[in-house]
Amino acid sequence: MITSSADPRPADFTDVRAANLAVVLRFVRDNAPCSRADIAASTGLNKATVSSLVADLIDRRLLREVGLTEHRVGRPATMLVLDGSPYASIGLEINVDYLTAVAVDLSGERLLSWRRSFPGATATPAQAVSAIAALTRRVISRMTRDRRQALGVAVAVPGLIDTGGTVVVAPNLGWRGVDLAGDLAKALHDPGLPIQVENDANLAVLAEHRFGPLGGTPNLVYLTGEVGVGAGVILDGRLRRGGQGFGGEIGHIEIDPEGPACRCGRTGCLEAVAGIGVLVSSTDPAKVEPEIEEVVRRAKAGDRPTLDRLARVGRDLGKGIAIATNLLNPEAVILGGYYVPLAPWLLPAAAAEAGDRTIAADLGGCRIVASTLGYGAAALGGAARVLDSVDSGRLPSRPTS
Ligand SMILES: [Zn+2]
Repeated sequence: MITSSADPRPADFTDVRAANLAVVLRFVRDNAPCSRADIAASTGLNKATVSSLVADLIDRRLLREVGLTEHRVGRPATMLVLDGSPYASIGLEINVDYLTAVAVDLSGERLLSWRRSFPGATATPAQAVSAIAALTRRVISRMTRDRRQALGVAVAVPGLIDTGGTVVVAPNLGWRGVDLAGDLAKALHDPGLPIQVENDANLAVLAEHRFGPLGGTPNLVYLTGEVGVGAGVILDGRLRRGGQGFGGEIGHIEIDPEGPACRCGRTGCLEAVAGIGVLVSSTDPAKVEPEIEEVVRRAKAGDRPTLDRLARVGRDLGKGIAIATNLLNPEAVILGGYYVPLAPWLLPAAAAEAGDRTIAADLGGCRIVASTLGYGAAALGGAARVLDSVDSGRLPSRPTS
C-alpha cells in the first residue's frame, strides 16, 4: 500500500472510503445535475464503487436523485444533485461594533442572517464569549426547530489567530491570548460539533471564493474595510495563512512614515491612513455606521472637503493595494466592510494610485471591486469554512431526525 511521505498514517479502508465519498460529493457540487456514469467517467472510480458511494451519500442525505434525463446517448440516467436539507453550517463574526451570525445549507442557500450591535471594543473577552455563545445557542435552536443538524461553527475575529483557535492578539478588540475556541466550547457545554476560530479577512475571502460573483477565481485578495484593515489571500485556489497563520496583516505595513499613530503602537500603518477610523470622528464604534452614512450623504451632495478626504484615503488605499498586486498578482482585489458604501469615491483614486505603483501594466490584470456580500461576509465565510471541512471528507454520519 502506498502512503505519501506527507502523511505517515497508513491509508486504511475507512480513510480511502471517506476520501472517495468526499470526491463524489465535490464532483456533484461542481457539476450537478449529473449521473453516476458522469461521476465514474470523470473521477476514474469504477461504476460499482460510484454506485455504492452514491447510495451512502443519499443515505446521509447529502445527495438526492432528481429524475431522468434523455438528452444524452444511451439509456436515460437518473440525475443527482446536492441535498443537505437536514444540515446547517454556521458562521459568526465578532467585530468592534457588531456580532453577526449566518447559517447556510449544504448548497450555500442562506438560512438566516442576523446582525446585532455589540460593544466589542470595550467588552471583556469573557463578556464577548458569553455573547457569542448566546447567539450560537439561538442559531442552533432555530436550526433544531427547523429539523436541521448543525455541522459546525466557525467564528471570525479581527486579529491574529493561531492554528489552535487562540486569539493571539486582536488590537481593535484589546484582546491578547484568548482561547476563544476552547472558551466557546465550554460556554456551550461541549456541544459535540467542531468549533473553529479564524481571522475575519481569511473567512471573508473564503466567502467570496465560494459564494461571491468572482467565486472560483484562483487568486483573490479581500481587504476588510473596518476600523482595522486586514487581507485574506487565496492563491492557486487555496487560502494562504502563512507559517503560523499570521499572514495577510497588510493593515500594519507602513504607508506614510509621517502618518498618524496606529492602534498597534507603530505609525503610518495602512489602517491608520486608510482605515475607516480616518473618516469618522467618533471613537464610539456604535456610531461608526451612522457616521459613514453621513460621509456618503455629503459625498453625494458634492461636499468638497469630504470628496478631498475620500480621494486621499483612496490614494493611500491604492498604495496598500499595490503591495498586493506587486507581491501576489491576483485577478481581483475585493474591498469589503465599510469600503463598500464608499466605493464610488474610493475606487477611482485607489485604482489610479495602485496602477501607478504596480510594475505590471494594467495592474497585472487585477480588477479592484467592491464586495457584494455585505457586512456578513466574514460570518458567511465561517459557514463556507465548515462546508470546506465537509468537502474535504468530514462528513456527517446521517441526520439525527
Ligand atoms: Zn499598525
